Amino acid sequence: MQEFAKAIVAGASGEELLNIPIPETYRAAFVKKDEVSMFNGLPTAQKDPRLSLHVDEVPVPEMAPDEVTVAVMASSINFNTVWTSIFEPLPTFGFLSRLGRSGHWEKRHDLPYHVVGSDGSGVIIRVGSAVRNWKVGDRIAIHCNYVDDQDPSAHDDSMLASNQRIWGFESNFGGLGDLTVVKANQIMPKPKHLSWEEAAVNALTNSTSYRMLVSQNGAAMKQGDVVLIWGASGGLGGYAVQYVLNGGGIPVGVVSSPEKIKLLNDMGVEAVIDRHAANYRFWKDEFHQDESEWRRFGADIRRLVGEDPDIVFEHPGRQTMGASVFVAKRGGIIMTCAATTGYMIEYDNRHLWMKLKSIKSSHFANYREAWEANRLLQKGMLYPIISKTYKLTDVGEAAYAVHQNIHEGKIGVLCLADDEDQGIEDFEMRDKVGENKLRLFRNHAKYFEKNRHQAGQE
Ligand code: NAP
Repeated sequence: MQEFAKAIVAGASGEELLNIPIPETYRAAFVKKDEVSMFNGLPTAQKDPRLSLHVDEVPVPEMAPDEVTVAVMASSINFNTVWTSIFEPLPTFGFLSRLGRSGHWEKRHDLPYHVVGSDGSGVIIRVGSAVRNWKVGDRIAIHCNYVDDQDPSAHDDSMLASNQRIWGFESNFGGLGDLTVVKANQIMPKPKHLSWEEAAVNALTNSTSYRMLVSQNGAAMKQGDVVLIWGASGGLGGYAVQYVLNGGGIPVGVVSSPEKIKLLNDMGVEAVIDRHAANYRFWKDEFHQDESEWRRFGADIRRLVGEDPDIVFEHPGRQTMGASVFVAKRGGIIMTCAATTGYMIEYDNRHLWMKLKSIKSSHFANYREAWEANRLLQKGMLYPIISKTYKLTDVGEAAYAVHQNIHEGKIGVLCLADDEDQGIEDFEMRDKVGENKLRLFRNHAKYFEKNRHQAGQE
């Protein structure tokens, strides 16, 4: 794949890329089926992706007619790679064997190793015979909605397709490698003003936040809506904040440190709660919640913005759902897409029905929504929230940082790109957006690290 990397950096044409042979193997990050029991008996926090994620050569898969082969320049860490690498809540090999049973091309996915990763940017190096809209040489970003477009149920909202899957989590050959094969309907143009790693970190969380807040399939936020955003400087939250600000809403961010408050202030969010400083105890013990703590949280929100949230952007799950349902405004909506802290959820239903609130679920985004979210990036109306970049060989370290919540925003991973800041084509647009925005999360991360380092020395 190094020959492709060199050619891409040298600006090779599609024809030149077609003349480079596809190798038999490529470098990728994967977990192994014979290791799924390695963390048995350990608490979740002690399950260490650095031990389960391997980087090595694997065979190049055959490309189906509706697929493209991509030289992956960069990828990113999503929480689903953390789940896969700690084998929770289930090992993902079950997904691969189910997919493998569904058809001829799908059989390829059922392997004793799972190449992970659900984001990527790169260059198309081969197109399948049924691909119409893309050609070799196109610079692209990849979204992770994996659907069979011959399934009728995929043709209203493809997230409702009976066979909908997430690429690199419920399918093999994910983005954390030097090559991937993806369906042509997963491809979007790479924003020209972004580097490879800046272009690689957005699609999964940006599109998810778009659907949750902007789309009619989600909360369809309107001007003036108060939106409570849990994890507001995290992978989902960092885009949610931008959507609320762009759309004339009033964000209330929840984070867990004074440094993250500063980061949110610099994004333009005035109302921010430090959940650690506030020391909310929503759960009295493992089985009982404390309504007075929900009330205290609600009062803190009112003190900041004068009213209750129209929308709660929810993903922590068990720890926060009771509070989220309680603090939402009468008629408000709790948009949920995850349950990082536990999926057996408990809330007081009286507060839901008596105040006509609703809980609405969301999961990734259909192609149209992902395309719209990418279009906003292309137009410079959103910026990537990349805080740090790792090399593919350090992918375990990168996943560990996300697992331990010691990161901000998104983490980029360099695959074929040998350094950061490569692949930028449109410097005029870059100037228009401004380096202060494009590097906001990275500048903060450097500042946080310096502070942590100094605190460690004292
Ligand atoms: P992330 O980058 O780790 O951010 C999550 C944020 O949640 C953290 O920054 C943290 O912020 C906050 N948090 C952690 N524990 C918390 C707790 N006990 N109470 C309140 N807040 C807490 O992860 P992400 O990419 O945003 O993803 C979040 C979740 O959504 C994951 O479970 C992921 O798998 C899921 N997800 C689902 C979809 C989908 O399509 N369904 C898509 C993307 C992600 P503070 O510590 O600063 O509060």
